[in-house]
Amino acid sequence: MIPPLIYWLPALATLAIGIWLLRVRTPPVPPSDQPACGHCGYPTTGLAGNDCPECGHDLHSAGVLTPEQQRSRAVRRTKRRATGITLILAALLLLGPGGFVAWQFERAFEATYGPWIARLNQQSSAQHPVGGGPSSQPVSLTTRPR
Ligand SMILES: [Zn+2]
Repeated sequence: MIPPLIYWLPALATLAIGIWLLRVRTPPVPPSDQPACGHCGYPTTGLAGNDCPECGHDLHSAGVLTPEQQRSRAVRRTKRRATGITLILAALLLLGPGGFVAWQFERAFEATYGPWIARLNQQSSAQHPVGGGPSSQPVSLTTRPR
């Protein structure tokens, strides 16, 4: 008998991680060949003040990204997105077709070995009835051996 949670929990966790990877905040702007706002990716060349006109963040705290940093950030974002989509597809396979196979397997397993397991359980409970046996002696935790 397969404990159902052992199958379903990893599949649901995979789905959750995939969704989380797609939700991670990154600037939605494609990389440019100019320095850009670290928060939203707006080009900062020729700005008069220290505040980004696009998102309003102070560029001292948001930071300014070089073109190289923008490109590596875009590559990381693409990889993260690809990983997230892969995990979601894998989770959907586990939850859908895989779940059906696991359910059928469990039914077949129970039909084949269920009576045998039930007989084993009866035998072992006959040998060690509940409330009897040497291991069920009450153990005192308050008195210590001297
Ligand atoms: Zn900005």
